[in-house]
Amino acid sequence: MARYTGPVCKLCRREGEKLFLKGARCFTAKCSFEKRSYAPGQHGATRRAKLSEYGIQLREKQKVKRIYGVLEAQFRNYYKKASRQKGITGENLLQLLESRLDNVIYRLGFAPSRKAARQLVLHRHFMVNGQVVNIPSYTVTPGDKITVREKSRKLGIIHEALKRTSDETLVPWLRVDKAKMEGEFLEKPARQDIPIEVQENLIVELYSK
Ligand code: SF4
Repeated sequence: MARYTGPVCKLCRREGEKLFLKGARCFTAKCSFEKRSYAPGQHGATRRAKLSEYGIQLREKQKVKRIYGVLEAQFRNYYKKASRQKGITGENLLQLLESRLDNVIYRLGFAPSRKAARQLVLHRHFMVNGQVVNIPSYTVTPGDKITVREKSRKLGIIHEALKRTSDETLVPWLRVDKAKMEGEFLEKPARQDIPIEVQENLIVELYSK
């Protein structure tokens, strides 16, 4: 599956806010957005056009895509699936994105960012219910157990990431046992338990046009 391979800090500057795409660096003074919070490009520092209604909806969609590291075609598929489900489409959409294996691994604290989680999954460092899964977009469902493979338990990146996680940062729909390096997806997340600041209704409005 294709993915964005350009400079990620530019994406934060484009969206005008920190998207926390680089793990620990995002919380330090090295964060590019802290130094240059204007849009990238020749006129980024001087021109910030007033957005139309469409522009606002578009930016919200781009922001969510960038947070989860999903490209347009795949994002649209998530939207289609969300709109076919019962309930509120915007919430269904976020629920589907949060259920991706790379996101779950990031939220469990096994990786410093979703991008790093994606790489770790591709390199076959995790199992779901005892089976190796190397598909970052794999949909995790309630009751699934995610474990770090025996041979990967000494990986520095996983230990460093785990050190930075605590009970306060863990979302209530996941359970993690740091000593055993395993976690469980307890239930589909309710909207109030998804800690990202987005207006998903704007994305629904955009795609409903
Ligand atoms: Fe965004 Fe993190 Fe880069 Fe800062 S360091 S601009 S928050 S990706």
